[in-house]
Amino acid sequence: MNFIEGPRVITEGELHANNITRYHVTRFYREQITNSGYYDQLKYIVEPSFEEFDSPGDLDTSGEHDNTVAPGLQHKYTQTGLLLVTDRCASYCRYCFRKRIVGRDSDEIAPDFVQLAQYIAGRPEITNVLLSGGDPFVLSTAKLDKILDHLLPISHLHSIRFGTKAVAYEPRRFEDSALPAMFQRIHEAGKTAVIVTHFDHIGEISVDAERNIRSLRAQGVQFLNQSVLLAKVNDDPEILAATFAKCHQIGIRPYYLFQGRPVKGASHFQVPLRRGLEIAHGINQRLSGIEKTFKYIMSHYTGKIEILDLGADDRVYMRYHQNKTPEKIGKIFSRPYLEGACWLDDLPER
Ligand code: SF4
Repeated sequence: MNFIEGPRVITEGELHANNITRYHVTRFYREQITNSGYYDQLKYIVEPSFEEFDSPGDLDTSGEHDNTVAPGLQHKYTQTGLLLVTDRCASYCRYCFRKRIVGRDSDEIAPDFVQLAQYIAGRPEITNVLLSGGDPFVLSTAKLDKILDHLLPISHLHSIRFGTKAVAYEPRRFEDSALPAMFQRIHEAGKTAVIVTHFDHIGEISVDAERNIRSLRAQGVQFLNQSVLLAKVNDDPEILAATFAKCHQIGIRPYYLFQGRPVKGASHFQVPLRRGLEIAHGINQRLSGIEKTFKYIMSHYTGKIEILDLGADDRVYMRYHQNKTPEKIGKIFSRPYLEGACWLDDLPER
């Protein structure tokens, strides 16, 4: 197998034992990152590294198993149902927090949308669903339409959200002539269609991506973007500010900047919290008010935590953006900073 550091002979058994994610990159993305002028940063997104064998961590850092209420359906936060609709992606990100699922034949994928729709229909507090995986846009539009057959009749769903990196990896997927009718169905059912893109770096926003996003926006699709803060890829306020400014320019609202998770085989991508906060503040210093709409977030087992600042008292200040217990949302709390800490669990509880 070819790694960034060079070729290495490894057995299937070693690949499994080390949870090495399947290697696949679309031709489009390979050409995009080569021609972007940023190849030395973007290669780390998709090219395997020897570091994957030595990165400690977990395969379920956000408690996805514990929040699974039916196969393929997670219900962690009151208003949101998360559906795992596929275990495949257009290309595979080396830092994926769902590497336990993607590129494999996973039994965590929804086998039965009747059962999931029944669960959601019986809970009026669920106002939106997120189709994720894997990447929902590796499925055919006909297959997505079949999933929507189960979701659109649920009157208390206000929005249908698609989490996808296919806009970066295979933007021409969005030129499918069947897609406008699919989004039209969502609108006619009285719901909003939202695409959450996953651009980590301005070099990923291709001309084709921009053209397709503009076209989908004209069809009434809303766009948000989430990025992951990644060592060697985008741990630079100039790059992330440029990425978010470009998103804003083409009609995508920057939404979350995720702190990298301590994922087994991917924790070498984590950036210490001190540096992460310098970067988050640096991004904000470079953007106008309407562009700085992102939150710097740690998607932790206990909830989504906004990372606010490192105080003069050397404590990290945070607050729950999402939590299973609504009373905890918005409450500020702090932990002493430990040099090099990248995750809440790395910070002492005092
Ligand atoms: S596209 Fe998303 S789900 Fe697929 S490998 Fe990348 S981060 Fe993971």
